[in-house]
Amino acid sequence: MPYRSATADILFSLSAVADFPALVEQKLMGDLDWDAVSSVIGEAGRFATAEIAPLNRTGDLSGATYENGVVTAAPGFADVYRHWAEAGWNGVSAPAEFGGMGLPHLVNVACTEIWNGASMAFALCPLLTEGAIGALKAHGSRELTDIYLPPMVSGRWSGTMNLTEPQAGSDLNAVRTRAERAEDGSYRLFGQKIFITYGEHDMAENIVHLVLARLPGASAGTRGLSLFLAPKFLVNADGSLGQPNDLRCAGIEHKLGIHGSPTCVMVYGDNEGAKAWLVGEENRGLAAMFVMMNAARLAVGTQGVAIGDRAYQQALAYARERRQGRSAKGGDGMAPIIERPDVQRMLMTMKANVHAARGICHLTGVSLDLAEYAATESERTAAANRAALLTPIAKAFSTDIGDETTSIGVQVHGGMGFIEETGAAQHMRDSRIAAIYEGANGIHAIDLVQRKLPLAGGETVRNEIAQIRQVASEVAGRGGAGFGATAERLAEASDALEESTRLMLAWLATDQNSALAGASQYLRLFGLTLGGACLAKAGLAAETLAKSGNKTELGRVGLARFFAEKLATAAPGLARAVASGAMPLEPYESILAESA
Ligand SMILES: Cc1cc2nc3c(=O)[nH]c(=O)nc-3n(C[C@H](O)[C@H](O)[C@H](O)COP(=O)(O)OP(=O)(O)OC[C@H]3O[C@@H](n4cnc5c(N)ncnc54)[C@H](O)[C@@H]3O)c2cc1C
Repeated sequence: MPYRSATADILFSLSAVADFPALVEQKLMGDLDWDAVSSVIGEAGRFATAEIAPLNRTGDLSGATYENGVVTAAPGFADVYRHWAEAGWNGVSAPAEFGGMGLPHLVNVACTEIWNGASMAFALCPLLTEGAIGALKAHGSRELTDIYLPPMVSGRWSGTMNLTEPQAGSDLNAVRTRAERAEDGSYRLFGQKIFITYGEHDMAENIVHLVLARLPGASAGTRGLSLFLAPKFLVNADGSLGQPNDLRCAGIEHKLGIHGSPTCVMVYGDNEGAKAWLVGEENRGLAAMFVMMNAARLAVGTQGVAIGDRAYQQALAYARERRQGRSAKGGDGMAPIIERPDVQRMLMTMKANVHAARGICHLTGVSLDLAEYAATESERTAAANRAALLTPIAKAFSTDIGDETTSIGVQVHGGMGFIEETGAAQHMRDSRIAAIYEGANGIHAIDLVQRKLPLAGGETVRNEIAQIRQVASEVAGRGGAGFGATAERLAEASDALEESTRLMLAWLATDQNSALAGASQYLRLFGLTLGGACLAKAGLAAETLAKSGNKTELGRVGLARFFAEKLATAAPGLARAVASGAMPLEPYESILAESA
């Protein structure tokens, strides 16, 4: 069965989980209506299914190639990118004043899932451009935005994010790339960046690099970092392309997956220095880059959902066709493996986890919209805090789910899953990076615990738990028998989350080591509980539809029940693991010692 974009499920989640139609109809976001949103997402799905999805395999097999500083995109990528950009898709959420569609964040989250489900390697190019557009829009001078944003929004030029250096990965304090002030008010960059996604390629006419670097005399650490814009080709006063800048791609990495996405070593300033312009203020570069990083975090979380859904679709089709053993239903034919309870468990786990992670990404996206469009200042602040709380969960939980789902996808295929021809292994290989880049998931867990739980004196997280409890009570109050023990399991998970949250907040003041040691398990516990609430909301919406005669969505009740009874039941165990705190250092040292 060929892959199809998950537009119907996405639309259902936007509506039932994120309550987006109600928000749109309040006209907070201008003239937009739900029909327009549905039609944009439907069109995106059609484009992705027909044009991008076929690139997924060729991108994996041929990959991007490097020769003498030139990177050539995988076969077909450049043509499809051109069609895609000409159709206006690069500007979904970009501001209308620069040629974008100016649509809400949540519509963009939906489209991001669609592009990444079709081909993650392809979609990474616009994912980075979109982040660069956001950072420039928020912090670039009028002069810079006027020159660079229109061609970036149209997709004629692409963007990159240059943080990482060999000694500076999770810890950007160690960035060494150097910036010098030039007499004309511009700057010159010298240094090397590694792992730069789409740092060089032939799909766009120009590449706009956003680079973190340190000015002379700047303080050590991230407070001494400034953000610069350095184009591949310098731009003439009339907007045409001029001389090549003093920067180059020194090679691309050979990787486990996403072969179609070139991961570049970038060298700045072999000669006179790469000409660059300051974005924002000197020494405030990380704050400016955070706009890009936050957008990219949610987008990367969405990649986990997208690739998980693709793996699920493929596993489902295989399980319907592959026959092994006699059918329990009688007769002498071989039964498709989908009839086996354990295969059903695998498929249900894949689907339920993907839908839960999608719901979390959608809640994060809608919070970003409310942070911008809600009617009052206090609503906007609360929504911004909610988006901040949920972003690390959307990123880390969803990408872990992407890994788990693609791995189960291989398992459903049995031995054929391990054979590259089926493509199941590619999903697993492609998915693996999402838990690592854009901040490794362990770093997001720390961010959640150390910086996000204390937001608004703990009120943001308490509100989130209260909303989950509200969903559990609604299931208990008006949910049908199909929900089984969903309300009870969700209430237990909420208890576990509440207790762990209380402990974490206390430990932040008294025992940082225990807070840090349990951070990843805490994030998982949060994702499971919130994900369970998302599925329960979708199930309740499906029951409401059924009462008005449309029973097609009722499977969502069973999905919510499966998640609550089979997956969210891990929550109390995770809470106990969190509560056990940090192990004393000495046992770890002896257990991890080479001779042990
Ligand atoms: C394919 C690919 C594309 C990429 N694209 C880009 C890009 O476009 N732009 C860019 O700038 N970078 C990019 N990166 C870099 C990526 O963001 C980093 O690899 C990532 O942030 C992790 O840094 P690191 O590899 O140095 O790992 P390390 O920082 O060495 O981390 C290794 C492990 O240690 C853990 N760890 C590290 N510090 C701590 C701590 N304080 N507490 C707890 N655990 C810790 C991490 O969670 C991780 O599990 C890309 C990388 C890859 C592989």
